[in-house]
Amino acid sequence: MSELNPKTKHKEFNGLPGVLSISLGLPILLVFLYQLSNEHYHTKGLSIDLTQVFTLERPLWDMILDSKVWSFYLLWFFGLMILDLSLPGYHKQGVELRDGTKLTYLINGVSISLILIITLLTRFWLTQGELPELQFLYQNILELTIITTIFSALLATFVYIISFQPLRKPNGKGTNERILAIGGNTGNPIYDWFIGRELNPRIGSWDIKLFCELRPGMLLWLLINLSCLHQQWLKLGYITDSMILVNVLQAIYVFDGVLNEDGCLTMMDITTDGFGFMLSFGDLSLVPFSYSLQSRYLAVEPIELGEIFSTVVLLISFTGFYIFKSSNNQKSNFRQGKLSHLNSIQTQRSTKLLCDGWWGLSQHINYFGDWIHALSWSLSTGFITPFTYYYILYFASLLLHRQSRDEIKCKEKYGKSWDEYEKAVPYKIIPYVY
Ligand code: NDP
Repeated sequence: MSELNPKTKHKEFNGLPGVLSISLGLPILLVFLYQLSNEHYHTKGLSIDLTQVFTLERPLWDMILDSKVWSFYLLWFFGLMILDLSLPGYHKQGVELRDGTKLTYLINGVSISLILIITLLTRFWLTQGELPELQFLYQNILELTIITTIFSALLATFVYIISFQPLRKPNGKGTNERILAIGGNTGNPIYDWFIGRELNPRIGSWDIKLFCELRPGMLLWLLINLSCLHQQWLKLGYITDSMILVNVLQAIYVFDGVLNEDGCLTMMDITTDGFGFMLSFGDLSLVPFSYSLQSRYLAVEPIELGEIFSTVVLLISFTGFYIFKSSNNQKSNFRQGKLSHLNSIQTQRSTKLLCDGWWGLSQHINYFGDWIHALSWSLSTGFITPFTYYYILYFASLLLHRQSRDEIKCKEKYGKSWDEYEKAVPYKIIPYVY
């Protein structure tokens, strides 16, 4: 057994039955969410028309084999890949890996976003507001949901297969052992395919995991939102305040991620998780097609919130965003050696655990802020149906699961110092509650 890549003993998600259920269940959930809110049917209240929900607009095989939608998506994915490899940015090193090396990443999200915005504005001007690409996107949400799911499965299979190939050394002489994910090396192909066997699969210097995390899914989410706003404008001749709110609030979140994308390099997804179906599906399908549910609902059910309710939603949003941003900034500044006046606990690893400021309130106060911000997105759809609140339930379970995984990791890493930290900061996410 390799020392660099120990065999994984603990299985997440209740092992094989769990990962199989998630791999099949989440894509079905995405189709179900689409069926609850589209141009032909949208639910109100809690009632669901089961005949509508179980009737697809087109035969499944027609959608799976739709060459126009495949071309659209492949152009999107590989077009972004070419931009990712060629546009200017700056280089940043990731955290130290188990073999003592660090990977270098090209951070150029700002250039890519600028290209996207300029292209959209140019197309808007050239097509006199028709924007056929956005209309195509809006009309093929279900097809794209299915096709991106298949694409994610193929990508997960590709990275699983290459994880067995030895890495060529940069100087071309000999090979290196690949670094596998601590959690994705059980030897069971299905489980490892799902969790991700290799930690940082790359083709040359192109990092597949960071690219998928930041580009095709996040930016598609933004475009889907815009396509819904555009659809409403074409249909009604104006845009409702609720649609503007959802678009603006979610765009702030996405662009904040783009502007601070080097912060991603210390996130659990990049430092700890392998890249398998869990992340490829999450990044490429779940993010764009479930996070856009609110704007999709508003495209078929236009809602005016009015000034007072819109102000309440904005206040909730900014409160959440402020907690999220300022706590993440505080931790980041602290770890760069700034803010040394704040109380902290010295660990045996020569790093310190901050237990003051935001980080004295709870162990993951940033999750709390993120969740409040997400609540404002659902509130923007008013109270016509609870289904647009799906996201905050899903996000709560994601954050709870993340917190428990992080706790296991930190307990193992910091030992007694972590016990001391837990005494100083007893709440996990919500101060004085949990
Ligand atoms: P955190 O930012 O909370 O980072 C956890 C890591 O930070 C720990 O593993 C540990 O790393 C270090 N750490 C923990 N506590 C302390 C402390 N008191 N002092 C110093 N270092 C500490 O979690 P994530 O990386 O999971 O999330 C980052 C952000 O991304 C969050 O705001 C989250 O809400 C957001 N997010 C959003 C998602 C979405 O879908 N919208 C999905 C996932 C995350 P180390 O081992 O290096 O010490």
